[in-house]
Amino acid sequence: MDVLVLNVSYEVLNITRWQRAICLVFSGKAEMLEQRDRSARSQFQEFDMPSVIKMNYYVKKPRMQVPFSRGNVFMRDHHTCQYCGKTRKAAELTLDHIMPRSLGGETCWENLVTACKHCNVKKGNRTPEAAGMKLRKTPRAPQFTPTLQACFREDWEKYVPYAVPLSGEIN
Ligand SMILES: [Zn+2]
Repeated sequence: MDVLVLNVSYEVLNITRWQRAICLVFSGKAEMLEQRDRSARSQFQEFDMPSVIKMNYYVKKPRMQVPFSRGNVFMRDHHTCQYCGKTRKAAELTLDHIMPRSLGGETCWENLVTACKHCNVKKGNRTPEAAGMKLRKTPRAPQFTPTLQACFREDWEKYVPYAVPLSGEIN
């Protein structure tokens, strides 16, 4: 079970395992802000199971990176085809190499977009220009947000002001 870790300033730091979170709380390095409706038990004691903790001192830390994966590309693009703008379930979406692999296109955040099956077939092994298709926005590596994690919990929402909707319109 995963725990959202906030900096002393309430900014999101990362997500950690509950065992680590309990250690941080017990050692006085962090305090618990939200707990789950169940507890953990050791040989000696019962613990409240944390869901959100806040550090008691400022932690300087580089920005977390979003793992590159098919699912996270879909989430970055809000499950929306970047060519026609239609929103689809993951099972009906494909990954499109903007610059096709056969033309030397890399598999990376900047060269992959979400495309519906129809648009992917239509584009084929061509660049968008050659296919006469236009990207709705330039793809980039997304900033880390806990909503890009599969373990996201409802009681984290109020601490994550920049939450990305899982589906929605293009902006
Ligand atoms: Zn499409």
